[in-house]
Amino acid sequence: TSIFDNVTEAPPDKILNLSVMYKADTDATKVDLGVGAYRDNNGKPWVLPAVKEAKRVLSEDPSGNHEYLGVGGVPELTSGAAKLIFGKDSPALADSRVYTIQSISGTGALMVGAQFLAQFKPVKDAPVYISDPTWANHRAIFETAGHTVKTYAYCDFETLTLNINGMIKDLKEATEGSIVILHACAHNPTGIDPTHEQWEQIASVMAERKLIPFFDTAYQGFATGSLDNDAWAIRRFVDYGFEMLVAESFAKNMGLYGERTGCLHTVSNSQEITRRISTQINRVSRATISTASAHGGKIAGTILKDSNLFSQWLEDLKTMSDRIKEMRDGLRTLLEKLGTPGTWNHITDQIGMFSFTGLNATQAEYLKNKYHIYLTDNGRISLAGLNTSNLDYVARAIDDVVR
Ligand code: PMP
Repeated sequence: TSIFDNVTEAPPDKILNLSVMYKADTDATKVDLGVGAYRDNNGKPWVLPAVKEAKRVLSEDPSGNHEYLGVGGVPELTSGAAKLIFGKDSPALADSRVYTIQSISGTGALMVGAQFLAQFKPVKDAPVYISDPTWANHRAIFETAGHTVKTYAYCDFETLTLNINGMIKDLKEATEGSIVILHACAHNPTGIDPTHEQWEQIASVMAERKLIPFFDTAYQGFATGSLDNDAWAIRRFVDYGFEMLVAESFAKNMGLYGERTGCLHTVSNSQEITRRISTQINRVSRATISTASAHGGKIAGTILKDSNLFSQWLEDLKTMSDRIKEMRDGLRTLLEKLGTPGTWNHITDQIGMFSFTGLNATQAEYLKNKYHIYLTDNGRISLAGLNTSNLDYVARAIDDVVR
């Protein structure tokens, strides 16, 4: 017997499992459309030129060392990240109503925010609302922190567009003080974002129902190629007068995936409240990660503070988002040329790393077994896995499976 006899087996993580199966596949034509990471046109991971240069600068700094960071993280990162999210002329920043702490990427920012809210949400027992569907870790993170998690309607699975009426209805019916997780841009897994008008509707009902926005932004600059465009919703909510949290990841937009670099921001309506919040956020972070990771934090901080590196980064963002858009255009054009049954405009209407294709679990399984093309069973594909060498192959395979 073991003292751990009561330990049952946890269900496998579907996305991580997919990547294990892809790696084990020895077929030369295999295509990874499951991967949530950018790949260049040769299918290879890409170290951004801005990151390469920042690493060179850091390696030549004679005062460089591996000491612990302070509890707040790398100061150049946290101050730069706040400007990136809220805009450098943000009144919330000018009034010192924002607190920013470095986190273990987006996941860690969500986790610290979830734990802070578990203790301090204004309405005890108010649930956390996540979109249907959403990134699988959202439910796991908020349930682990002790919240009740509910869903709000998001995707119209027939038309593959935003179910704005369903969303508004669910938010209207949410209890006061509920927390609502919102994807700031490039919704994962659907690639469907609200329009500016729809964001206005969402803001209006959330203000009326006194709901608390918790933005998750993992694709700023990666979606449209513009940092400002991709932060539009967050800034609009600040203007609207919301107090809120924002979890920010530099995994995708700086390609710092494994370096685990991100920030958690809180916005309140007074400097004094923000000061008190900062002490509690620091306490939660100290008790979970003690201090953030230095390497990625310094790389991102170096890019944000140096105007030449920042300009290079803007070019890198363009390179990535343009290539993704080309793959969207290419896939749609090929499917339409092949006369593949159905409509394919949603591929170019959607934005960010993913497309919700409308393919079902059986079709995804068929693509894997017959064509060695790997995608999640909800029909989500990562456009980053496409390139000029495999686009035609993938389009023909989709054509076959749909017929
Ligand atoms: N939120 C969403 C919606 C995401 O897609 C991701 C990345 N898959 C994250 C958060 C955070 O990822 P990370 O912890 O790697 O920054």
